[in-house]
Amino acid sequence: MTDLDADRPPPKPLVPGVASALSPMVRRVLAPNPGVMTGPGTNTYLVGIDEVAVIDPGIDDAGHLDAIVGCGGDRIRWILCTHTHPDHSPGAAELKKRTGAEVLAFDSRDGLEVDTPIADGFRIEATEFRLRAVHTPGHASNHLCYLLEEERLLFSGDHIMQGSTVVIAPPDGDMAAYLDSLARIRELRLRSIAPGHGHLIDAPTQVIDEYVSHRLEREQQVLDAVGAGDRTAAEIVSRLYVDLIDELVPRAKQSVHAHLRKLAADGLVDGADIDDPEAAWSLKSG
Ligand SMILES: [Zn+2]
Repeated sequence: MTDLDADRPPPKPLVPGVASALSPMVRRVLAPNPGVMTGPGTNTYLVGIDEVAVIDPGIDDAGHLDAIVGCGGDRIRWILCTHTHPDHSPGAAELKKRTGAEVLAFDSRDGLEVDTPIADGFRIEATEFRLRAVHTPGHASNHLCYLLEEERLLFSGDHIMQGSTVVIAPPDGDMAAYLDSLARIRELRLRSIAPGHGHLIDAPTQVIDEYVSHRLEREQQVLDAVGAGDRTAAEIVSRLYVDLIDELVPRAKQSVHAHLRKLAADGLVDGADIDDPEAAWSLKSG
């Protein structure tokens, strides 16, 4: 804990079904889907008072949707998804049914049907706020963050999380793209980040720098492991991830595979088939 933390009030508790105000313009409702990958569950955010944008409706759960509608009511005009993974977008269809709001995301995928596909730079101009989409591939190729311009607050989905690690699962997940997207976000001069999982992040630049250095450190370890004779992602996982719970082993393998693909793109390692998670790798000779 730093001196800075000591002056701050403790973060508002994450309790499912209870809307909590994070700023004059932003409220959060936690979905009841806690887990190893989701931490306390998925955060659904409501932006605006007179006109409301819902960011990540989360799972299709009646109680959760009741809480969202109870908070935003018939003022909900837009339903935005950061990406189409099962803990973020399945609630969109039912929420649209209940509110008539427009569903917006990068594309229709994984069961999500968008009314309007949107891309980097797309803006919602509401009476009280402006929200801008920022394309941030890496965790998912269709991942968008949303910047609340008035507050320099970024809704980061699974690009940046609080309290759990972002999974990069190839081939849709891409480590090189992920690092590029982190660099882009760093340039936005953010005041804070509202992640898809966990509490508000008050020191965005510091957290982004930690993310980048963590990944680069891991990348070096993966390269060293190949240099030491490890051939497969599985072998590298057993070398690098000590005491990993069984449930997380497949995720660790995906992450190592993502690093190997980036190292191959950087010309440092060779693999027979870079998209094969079981492939054998070696240091690039010459
Ligand atoms: Zn998620």
